[in-house]
Amino acid sequence: MRRPLVAGNWKMHGTCASIKQLLTELTEQALPLSVDVAVFPSLIHLQTVGAQVASSNIVIGAQDCAVQLEEGALTGETSALQLKDIGCSMVLIGHSERRQLQDETDRVICRKFIAAQAAGLTPVLCVGETLEEREAGQAQATVQRQVDAVLLELGVDVLKNAVIAYEPVWAIGTGLTATPEQAQEIHAQIRAHVAKYSASVAQGLRILYGGSVKAANAAELFAQADIDGGLVGGASLNAKEFGAICRAAGN
Ligand code: PEP
Repeated sequence: MRRPLVAGNWKMHGTCASIKQLLTELTEQALPLSVDVAVFPSLIHLQTVGAQVASSNIVIGAQDCAVQLEEGALTGETSALQLKDIGCSMVLIGHSERRQLQDETDRVICRKFIAAQAAGLTPVLCVGETLEEREAGQAQATVQRQVDAVLLELGVDVLKNAVIAYEPVWAIGTGLTATPEQAQEIHAQIRAHVAKYSASVAQGLRILYGGSVKAANAAELFAQADIDGGLVGGASLNAKEFGAICRAAGN
């Protein structure tokens, strides 16, 4: 039985005052104990958020980490060890916005995945096809290539301490959501692909769906057999919406 995870990716949003308010509203709500809840604020807010959630079950994660584990002359970068030191337990790796805006390649993403695990963080590996790839019938091949960039390079056992987030690029921040059936199809394909290397790792692997998840569509998505929770962008900036999404994952 996989424990659901709902993760809020706050992206480059928030001020000290607004995130404090958001967390106050979030921690006042009853969140289901059967669901893991994580928030991924901007780097500059990690410490404040960590302090504010310390007495709750919410954990914090970062939106990216450096390819290099050890400290060094890498201006503007943050290492996975520094993230661990500040209280993170997770880190997003290969979010489509970074793949697109920062030209992150599968090779770079694999190196970041290695650094995250070496620091004791759980990497949340983000994969997903563009609209063009879906329309060309390439959705499955694209996602498999992105999973293989880690799986074939590092071996299946690294997925014992990792999460995969399937986020079709065309559904991120667009209001377009994959139908539960479309999402389930890709999730099942990812699990079946991992199962070729290890049935038990595939069985235990949490695969989140991301792409315009909101309170109104969460329950239907999370009811799918291979969807183990969500990576939520826009809706995670609204405490009521995010709380409702967490509760949907607990039902
Ligand atoms: C995301 O950025 O990971 C995401 C899924 O965003 P949204 O929920 O806004 O589509």
